[in-house]
Amino acid sequence: MEYKNMEIWFITGAQLLYGGDAVVAVEAHSQAMVEGLNQSGKLPLKLVYKGTVNSSSEVEAAFKEAGNAKLCAGIITWMHTFSPAKMWIKGLQSYHKPLLHLHTQFNREIPWEAIDMDFMNLNQSAHGDREFGHILSRMHKNRKVVVGHWTEANVQERIAVWMRVCAAWADAREMTLVRFGDNMNQVAVTDGDRLEAELRLGYHVDYYGIGDLAEVKDSVTEDEVNTLLDEYQALYTFAGNCRKGTGNYEQIRHAARLEIALGRFLKEKDAKAFTTNFNALHGLNQLPGLACQRLMAEGYGFGAEGDWKTAALMRTMWVMAKGLPGGTSFLEDYTYHFNGEKSAVLQAHMLEVSPEITAQKPRLEVHPLGIGGKADPARLVFTAHPGSGWAATIVDMGNRFRMIANKVEVIEPEAALPKLPVASALWIPQPDLETGAAAWILAGGTHHTSFSYALTREFLEDYADVAGIELLLIDEETTIAGFKSEMKLNEVYYLLNK
Ligand code: MN
Repeated sequence: MEYKNMEIWFITGAQLLYGGDAVVAVEAHSQAMVEGLNQSGKLPLKLVYKGTVNSSSEVEAAFKEAGNAKLCAGIITWMHTFSPAKMWIKGLQSYHKPLLHLHTQFNREIPWEAIDMDFMNLNQSAHGDREFGHILSRMHKNRKVVVGHWTEANVQERIAVWMRVCAAWADAREMTLVRFGDNMNQVAVTDGDRLEAELRLGYHVDYYGIGDLAEVKDSVTEDEVNTLLDEYQALYTFAGNCRKGTGNYEQIRHAARLEIALGRFLKEKDAKAFTTNFNALHGLNQLPGLACQRLMAEGYGFGAEGDWKTAALMRTMWVMAKGLPGGTSFLEDYTYHFNGEKSAVLQAHMLEVSPEITAQKPRLEVHPLGIGGKADPARLVFTAHPGSGWAATIVDMGNRFRMIANKVEVIEPEAALPKLPVASALWIPQPDLETGAAAWILAGGTHHTSFSYALTREFLEDYADVAGIELLLIDEETTIAGFKSEMKLNEVYYLLNK
């Protein structure tokens, strides 16, 4: 649903200095290049050639059209010949969507025997793209620069990453986030400036009382519940005390009713993400756990305890990852396993972890929950599969949003966890637990994260560039000394650049 109705527009830069033959050649090369890129099978969004621009008024018209077109999620530019960059100023001033500067060239190699001045004048991206890059830098325009021949897989893959980020960015700018209740009382890191988030990150946060959901729940029919129960039967292994005719079966039915109600409520509000709070459950039988797990797997962003920033980020990362192998989930740092080189941290939550991140058939179980004061909630229990991924968060530093992202290696637990009644993932933050956790804590990162197996650091870098927010990456290369100086430099940068 997010990718179908989006396009990326391709605009070639040139000038009329080189005569009519050059104009014809530039047009033909651009068309062949766009066609080739579309046929590579690597690009998640359709690339549409919108013509060659040769003057300031043509540039401005092209960028304004792209800005107004709902289906245009971003622009790729390429200078075939030299394109004096003052003519790009007005267009760029009017343009606020993502921009990728493809630094390539139509021909792959120099034709040693045939090359003459006409060939050089026509094929001078090495020259023209530098002029274009200058005006973008001078105007402080964030953009991605991809260098290489357009037929190379690596070039196409880097464009594909950026396209996915464009799709997620467009999605975020049309995102309503439903927040049931407020933040968990006194909690600092999950709170922040919702108005600034809408200005900067695009999404809108609305508040609802949990009673609004309770009302919808009461309208759910027994037939609807039965149908959903059939789906649970097909997908999950029911714990012995949860099967039909046993004591907890009624709690599973309550959970199914809640899932239907929550899904209906989010659809009615046209929402893409939501938060719950265990302190605000009036009119509900149990904390919605199973519902949150299953809705996450459908692509809804989720944050517990009112954590709207993580909910929105999870939705954004889910959209970026759509169709790629791996899964995306809300998670929380819970308990450490100090074990020397393999020291790890167990990720879980009270209930809410997406089944997208497991290869197991989840077990449907009901257990008491110590907090919230409600009946025993249903939940899916499983262990996340091994593999590497990225855990990310966005925190509000007062004068800016800071994204912190840590590469993590999910590992198999040393033994089964028969008494743990929730889904979990065991991972080693890179470069190791001691450095990864120290850097995360120094940066002021949350205990909640949005995690994805499908994404690489390039996705997060592209996202932070598009959003214009601070990014602190923690991976194999991170040292605490380097990380501290990066944070100090950023502090100065963001004081000077409001
Ligand atoms: Mn939590």
